[in-house]
Amino acid sequence: MSVLMKGMDVVNAMKETLITRAEKLKEKGVTPCLTIVRVGSRPDDLSYERGAKKRMESVGITCHVVELPEDISQEKFEQEFQRVNDDPDVHGILLFRPLPKHLDEEPVKNMLNPQKDIDCMTPVNIAKVFAGDESGYAPCTAEAVMEMLCYHQIDLTGREVVVVGRSMVVGRPLSMMLLKKNATVTLCHTKTVDLEEICKKAEVLIAAAGKAGMITENMVGDQAVVVDVGINVDQNGNLCGDVDFEHVEPKVSYISPVPRGVGSITTSILAKHVVRAAESFVR
Ligand code: NDP
Repeated sequence: MSVLMKGMDVVNAMKETLITRAEKLKEKGVTPCLTIVRVGSRPDDLSYERGAKKRMESVGITCHVVELPEDISQEKFEQEFQRVNDDPDVHGILLFRPLPKHLDEEPVKNMLNPQKDIDCMTPVNIAKVFAGDESGYAPCTAEAVMEMLCYHQIDLTGREVVVVGRSMVVGRPLSMMLLKKNATVTLCHTKTVDLEEICKKAEVLIAAAGKAGMITENMVGDQAVVVDVGINVDQNGNLCGDVDFEHVEPKVSYISPVPRGVGSITTSILAKHVVRAAESFVR
């Protein structure tokens, strides 16, 4: 029987440390503060926002939301963003993306203070992830996968790790973080030839493709560790991952569920980054 890698186990393990660090900051007169910048009211954004606010509050971080109208002009959007960026009481900024089509995110990516860029949007932090420099902030979901593997003491040194999905928010940075831990990484995508054979050889398989149930039992080696990053909706309207959990689970040593897997850890990573950012401003 496999070990179920539940997100909440990792969240609970991180909680006490975060509370202690936030309290230490408060003793120095600083309350760690996250500001979310949201343009419009997409249901996905609102749902993530609710979860993020709750998680921040649970560890003693203040969370503000700057809500901007869907039809805001580029100029006004940049002005509002700059105002948050310049606010000395704000330590971390999270901009919900994608933005409405008429807005260009490039200018704000470049104006955002990398010290406040707690979800790796700026070129500086992206470059740091790719250089294996851990002084920046990695994308929260990619780091959530690393935190989950670390919590379960899965040693990555020399292991064959396959990542399916090469996006800039998950697969690509994650592959660099795995490399930093001395894994031998194969990064797959839609043009990969013989995905099944490659996945089958993986000692650790990470699915981040956004295709419901695409990782089937014949694609997974016996006793592999399987992490499912995908968040999809199945034919019945239920949330599901990229892994065909029912058939894969009996074959593997560790597996993360969807929901209640990697997704639950993301906001704790966000909280960790906000606390670290606040600490960096205090020093
Ligand atoms: P993208 O759509 O940006 O990227 C998907 C990647 O998967 C692409 O590189 C694509 O390849 C690859 N891919 C898609 N289909 C296949 C296939 N059949 N075979 C091989 N590769 C494939 O998605 P994201 O990276 O943003 O997200 C991936 C998944 O993770 C989604 O389900 C998303 O909802 C979820 N997610 C979860 C988060 C969480 O908190 N748990 C946060 C962010 C995302 P190519 O480059 O060739 O097109």
